[in-house]
Amino acid sequence: MDLFEYQGKEVLRKFDVPVPEGRVATTPEEAAEAARGLGGKVVIKAQVQVGGRGKAGGIQLADSPEQAREMADKILGMDIKGHTVKRVLVERAGDIKEEYYCSFLLDRSERKFLGMMSAKGGIDIEEVAETDPDAIARVHIDPLYGMSDFHARRMVFGSGIAEAARKDAIALLPKLFKAFVELDASLVEVNPLILTCEGRVVALDAKVSLDESAAYRHPFFDELKSAHEIPEQERFAKERGLNFIKLDGDVGIIGNGAGLVMSTLDVVKAAGGEPANFLDVGGGAGAELLSSALEVITSNPEVKSVLINIFGGITRCDLVAEGIIDALNRLDVKVPIVVRLDGTNAEQGRKMLADAPHPKLVTAETMLGAAEKAVELSQATGSAVAQTKGGAA
Ligand code: GDP
Ligand code: MN
Repeated sequence: MDLFEYQGKEVLRKFDVPVPEGRVATTPEEAAEAARGLGGKVVIKAQVQVGGRGKAGGIQLADSPEQAREMADKILGMDIKGHTVKRVLVERAGDIKEEYYCSFLLDRSERKFLGMMSAKGGIDIEEVAETDPDAIARVHIDPLYGMSDFHARRMVFGSGIAEAARKDAIALLPKLFKAFVELDASLVEVNPLILTCEGRVVALDAKVSLDESAAYRHPFFDELKSAHEIPEQERFAKERGLNFIKLDGDVGIIGNGAGLVMSTLDVVKAAGGEPANFLDVGGGAGAELLSSALEVITSNPEVKSVLINIFGGITRCDLVAEGIIDALNRLDVKVPIVVRLDGTNAEQGRKMLADAPHPKLVTAETMLGAAEKAVELSQATGSAVAQTKGGAA
């Protein structure tokens, strides 16, 4: 779960990490009011769960409450990389002397935490990593021993940040690390960490990703999450107990077992198509579940065909076939559905599908054959649409 910047700063503040004073606003009036309360110069920052807001025009300075209102009016409703701005953070604006980078994350391959720091902050760290990798100090931290002062010193001295910032940075890093560990975060990134003209070190931005598997021991995760917008389709899927992730393509995918669904995505790609989603129906495959799955998938207008790929193990293919037939009778499905059944009682399942012909139903014997068929059908529908549009013009 990626937190909004204002949420990230709220949680970091609890760990005594210095962050600018600020308030959240959802209307230009609230922004003006917040600016009045803070006094002086403020910065208005778009709150979206994606970086690069500065470049997109989502961060503006304002000298007065009136100007804050104007800026907020511009930023609210703005689209930043597909995310609509619903809130802005109004913060007291300080004068920046230098911008640095620091983060803590999980390095799975080393089985350790990784602390990174660079004097080159405020810009994409990926870019720094590519063009000037030595500008980033990397320090591994053993999760069992935790962080010691020497780790912080190595990050600070290794990064080459200004002398004026070192002492504060050495004090700040362990607090950031403590937040990272105690929050069960997978990432805490501060870019930029700034040295102000008054010589203070402050976290000007905060990107915090929390591990939702730890939600059971952090009741406040739910509260943080309630501010997040869950796409309609994902909410619907979750309510029905489906393991669903939206992707950007047009071939809807239903499978049983995460591994099978993952390989189905690969095969669709190999066949020249683009999967529209990941959907694992798990062990069950009754009509109820398959109806829900089909309903979730076809609610995405991008979907041009659906591929159902079931391997019957404990789940019997005849029951799956029954579920599919039942689901198709309940729903008004408008896109072609390719079904591939294999495993326990596959023959029987296939026969049932053949005996209950449905105009949208196509069966296939192999996984690759099914994927190719689904891709072909998705492209056929696509071109039909394009032709109609072309003809009308
Ligand atoms: P991001 O682009 O989404 O990562 O947003 P950031 O919060 O990192 O801000 C991008 C840039 O805007 C920073 O690197 C700063 O240069 C600038 N900026 C952000 N907040 C302030 C502020 O309070 N005062 C000033 N002067 N500049 C700011
Ligand atoms: Mn940033």
